[in-house]
Amino acid sequence: MALPWAAELAPHPDQKRLFELRQLLQKAAHAYYVLDAPIMADETYDQLYRELLDLEQQYPEWITPDSPTQRVGGSPSQAFPSMTHPTPLYSLDNAFTWGDLQAWQDRWQKWWSAELPPDLYICELKIDGLALNLFYEQGVLVWGATRGDGVTGENITANVRTIRSIPLRLQTDHPPAQVEIRGEAFLPQPVFAQLNREREQQGEVPFANPRNAAAGTLRQLDPRLVAQRRLDFFAYGVGIGGQGASQQEMLECLARWGFRTNPHSRVCGDLQAVQEYYKIWSERRQALPYGTDGVVVKLNSLAMQAALGFTQKAPRWAIAWKFPAETGVATIVGVTVQVGRTGTLTPVAELTPVRLAGTRVTRATLHHAQRIQELDIHLGDRVVVRKAGDIIPEVVQVLRELRPPDAVAYRLPSHCPACGEPVVAGGDEAATRCVNRRCPGIVREQINHWASRDALDIRGLGGKVAQQLVDLGWVQTVADLYDLTQARLQSLERWGAKSAANLIQAIDRSRQQPWPRVLYGLGIRHVGSGTATRLTQHFPSVQALQQAQVADLCAIAGIGAEIAQAVQAWFADAENQALLQRLEQAGLSLSCAPATPKGALAGKMVVLTGRLPHFTRAQAKAMIERAGGRVGASVTQRTDYVVVGEEAGAKLEKARALGIPTLNEAELVALVGEG
Ligand code: NAD
Repeated sequence: MALPWAAELAPHPDQKRLFELRQLLQKAAHAYYVLDAPIMADETYDQLYRELLDLEQQYPEWITPDSPTQRVGGSPSQAFPSMTHPTPLYSLDNAFTWGDLQAWQDRWQKWWSAELPPDLYICELKIDGLALNLFYEQGVLVWGATRGDGVTGENITANVRTIRSIPLRLQTDHPPAQVEIRGEAFLPQPVFAQLNREREQQGEVPFANPRNAAAGTLRQLDPRLVAQRRLDFFAYGVGIGGQGASQQEMLECLARWGFRTNPHSRVCGDLQAVQEYYKIWSERRQALPYGTDGVVVKLNSLAMQAALGFTQKAPRWAIAWKFPAETGVATIVGVTVQVGRTGTLTPVAELTPVRLAGTRVTRATLHHAQRIQELDIHLGDRVVVRKAGDIIPEVVQVLRELRPPDAVAYRLPSHCPACGEPVVAGGDEAATRCVNRRCPGIVREQINHWASRDALDIRGLGGKVAQQLVDLGWVQTVADLYDLTQARLQSLERWGAKSAANLIQAIDRSRQQPWPRVLYGLGIRHVGSGTATRLTQHFPSVQALQQAQVADLCAIAGIGAEIAQAVQAWFADAENQALLQRLEQAGLSLSCAPATPKGALAGKMVVLTGRLPHFTRAQAKAMIERAGGRVGASVTQRTDYVVVGEEAGAKLEKARALGIPTLNEAELVALVGEG
């Protein structure tokens, strides 16, 4: 029974969590703002910050003045004289979802009852750099400072003067007596990449992102070094001395005075238009020569801005709508071990849900035993998960400060979870493997692969069906599939005459599939469908491939020693040879006529981008290949055509930049003559 005073002494779990979060965020903010060497990704910081904010909203009595939610930025470093800004520089509140944006609109509308102008909002790109405040007197640059904590910044005038896009004198005959110009100093993407290459060559730690690189550069004590780094600057605001009636007019005025302003800002009448702008730039931003992490939405009218004013930390009239996070924080609630078709064990973390790159993620790979050890994974750990584009989500970092005291270290099992045989670890690669050929986990995955779209394309076979056939012991290799009969399948629980007949038909049809697909379906390590096609072009029959030496295989473009060895080892194996024999007896084709590309796209490299109105990617690819062409993943100088669908993104921009001809779907169909 709990003692009556025990509850009073033990801190409330939420209070403990709030304390931990505050400490971790303080540490992160110091590393980020003062040391220019972040210890976590911005998105991770943002997510933890939100969690803290939510807790503080729930328990306002626990807010302390040193909480990161109460501060605008970082404290100024000691290396430069500090100085007080004539008017403070604020931060921005963040929105992460459409709902957040609507909530912001509802909030500011409570402060504004008068009529709304038609040019209500202005959207600007949120440049990933460092905010500067520049002070001009009678049109002449007097000093420049970093934002610092918003009230006090570092005086870095000598360094600011090296930035070419900052005029030392305003280009006007009638400058205001005093004016503060706000904007973002940033390193252009190519300069950032080059700088990091140099740092790595010199054994220094590369900068984590362009913003830290810009901050690190501006904090150099030697202005000559700063000048070499070619920093750039976009002006986006004015402190004292502003002119114009709207943000848009102010930007135009800044441009007239000689500043670079970002060319992509756009006036939007309502939130729908804002959303369109956001959607466009969440795709196009990759092609920009500078980093941007969101869209800043501002009320365009300066009168409205003045009426709404600021909270302690940020303007009420603006919000930063961040682009979808590619990293986030989740808790590991368990680890499942998957057995792959080559026997590799892959540990997968089961997670509390987190939204990444626009999708809900509940599982993330831990790759292999070595990674688990490096990260020191414990069950119950709070971890950083990353998912970029189509890449499989992965666990990239453990937040040790947030580890529960009772968390238990996780180790991969010593026996295969599918067959119970001991696993083999180490060797020349990080993977742990099950080496039991009869392992039901491996066989099931081999069947899934054999039946997949790019291999034998057997509809209705895979997942649960494969599992059932393996569990029954009916299928131990893919050749056993061709011994199945409708009558046997029909005898199973939950199988009707129709479903059994359909599967048998689909398996029958797979006997007609060409040799390259069969070869790919065999699931030889490192042999994807492209490699399989290439191999069969040079070795058009299974006999020829069986006799090929490693050196013969390596002579094929795109086939290295690792692939060659894997192929040779596979064909040298007696059990595999028996499998091939059975497949041949089952009527599968293990040879093809040597291919010489012909057709309208013979020898041409084609890249697809965007959604085509009538064809899937796979169909378009097949059509191009039938016409003798090949499909590449990215646009390069060697690309002959780019086929452009709806919502085409960066590839289209690249094609335009390189002057590569583009085709729409109809033009492609006409060209290959498949009306
Ligand atoms: P912020 O960067 O989210 O937003 C405010 C800043 O946006 C301004 O100061 C200005 O520099 C910039 N900005 C760019 N374009 C702009 C435009 N067109 N109009 C107005 N402002 C524009 O806020 P912050 O307070 O500077 O920093 C907080 C952010 O820093 C967090 O959201 C987080 O992503 C990052 N951070 C990361 C860590 C970490 O450990 N990784 C730690 C602390 C902070």
